[in-house]
This record gives sequence, structure tokens and C-alpha cells, in this order.
Amino acid sequence: MECAAKGLAAEPCAGGVADRRCGGCGAVAYCSRVHQIIHWRVHKEECERFAEQMRHINALSQFPFTFLEPPALNHEFPSARCLFLQSIKLHQKGLWKSECICGRDVAPLKGLSVEAEWNLQSSLCPCAEPKNPVSSALASWEAYYQWRSLPLHSPVAVLLHWPLTLYHCVQLSRTQTPRYDGQDTLCIHYLGPEKELLQLAAFGELRALFPSVQIHIELVGPEVPKSRDGEVVNISRYACCSDKSCCCKSSIGSKDLSCTAVTLKLWKGFYHERCSDILKVLSTITPIF
Ligand SMILES: [Zn+2]
Ligand SMILES: [Zn+2]
Ligand SMILES: [Zn+2]
Ligand SMILES: [Zn+2]
Ligand SMILES: [Zn+2]
Repeated sequence: MECAAKGLAAEPCAGGVADRRCGGCGAVAYCSRVHQIIHWRVHKEECERFAEQMRHINALSQFPFTFLEPPALNHEFPSARCLFLQSIKLHQKGLWKSECICGRDVAPLKGLSVEAEWNLQSSLCPCAEPKNPVSSALASWEAYYQWRSLPLHSPVAVLLHWPLTLYHCVQLSRTQTPRYDGQDTLCIHYLGPEKELLQLAAFGELRALFPSVQIHIELVGPEVPKSRDGEVVNISRYACCSDKSCCCKSSIGSKDLSCTAVTLKLWKGFYHERCSDILKVLSTITPIF
């Protein structure tokens, strides 16, 4: 971990790892006792909130919508991930470009956009509104695929674990804090985005998962390109399929803000550096994460 007081104190950080964790929350660490004391002035405002978030950390290991990373996603070419993508003819295509190591150069983060497509037939990807609204809480990929009428061999789960994991977080927080029920704006603080910054179109699926809810996501992390800091990205449709005549094509270009359901805002930096800026803007909305 990086010292939470890095750059804030007149004295530079002591060498080595910052392993003095805050005893209150355990979420931040310091290089020295001096830096911890200096930082308390800022941290005392957030320590309790971080502690509340850290109490849920065990739930993270039981998330149904995640995958283990392939053991060696190394720089040796071709990686297991490349071979997998090649086998389903999606290597270096559309939304999948950044899914393997070779995509990093092809689609630099500076160019992140929400225009990418699934490159799959409409029967294999969720490119349009669901046939039925989501009824009970989805708790497995099987339930999700069934609801979206997708065959289980569709590879979309590889990219949809981003929105589905958010969905699951919200389900958990709803049972713990019922005060979010019935609220029609959902504000999520999303920490440390990396390659999902190049797969933002996949977050469009949140529109189907949370019908008639305005979703606002603060993406905060050091990987956010400096040139995109502060930018707001609206997602008003689902990522498209490859069928030329599919109904998902007709909604292209409808960038009408009134029908936007998912808004992403990009923040460059670490959460402990930016959260006061974020909360300043949003003082009227309660963050859930
Ligand atoms: Zn320090
Ligand atoms: Zn603390
Ligand atoms: Zn590759
Ligand atoms: Zn927000
Ligand atoms: Zn389609």
C-alpha cells in the first residue's frame, strides 16, 4: 500500500512499504507514525465511513459474479487469454480488445469510449431491452443467462462481471441498509478501475438490472488518464450485436440526456486523495460504496 499522507506532508515518506495501518478503519496505511499523525486531520472525517465499508470485506470473497484471473496473464505471447479469445473468434475485436495483454497498445486508455460492440450475434449477447423485467434477485450466472435468454455458451459473462458485480454489491447493501429502497438515484463509488475503463459499454447492462433507476458511478483510480479527469460519460444504450438488422441498431445516436440511465464520472488519483472532491460535488446524494 502507498502511504496515505504521501505528497500531503512537508517531509517525504520514509522508505519501504507503508505498513502502519490505521487502527480505526484498517483501510489506509502510513510509512511512519509522523505521517499518520499529520494525516489524521484529513482522515478523521472519513475514518468511520471507511471502517463501515471494511466491515463488509469478507463478503467480497463470496461474490458469485467474479472469476479467478488466469494464473499467468504474463507478457509472453500468446497468453492463455489470447488463445481463449481466438478460439471464440473475438480476439482483438470490439469490446474484447482490451481483454488480453495485446489490447493494451491497440486501445490506449486515452481513447476510452462507450461505442464498442459485442461482435456477437444478437442471440448470444444482451444488446436490447430484456423481455421481462428482472423479477427476483439474480444470484448466479445461470439465473442471469436465463433471464436474458442467452445460451450458456455465450462468452459475455467474461465482460459482464463488471456490472453484475456492482449489481450484487447493491443487493447486499440493500439488505443491510434498507434506507436505499425506493430511491431512484443510485450513486456508486467505484475504486481502482483498470481495463474496465476500455469496456465501459458493458456497464450499459446496469440499465436492465436497475430499471427506472438513475445510476451514477464515480470511477476513481490512478489508471484514469489525466486528460479524462473530471469527464462525464453517459451510457444510454446497450452494447450492440453484430446483426445488421437487429433492433439494437435503431437506438444508436439517441444521446438524449433525459433517457440516460447510467452516468459515469472519471476521477484520476487514489480514492483517499479524491473522495473529498467527489463528496463535495455530491453532497446531496448518499454514496453506498
Ligand atoms: Zn508517508
Ligand atoms: Zn482510519
Ligand atoms: Zn491477445
Ligand atoms: Zn455519484
Ligand atoms: Zn442487437
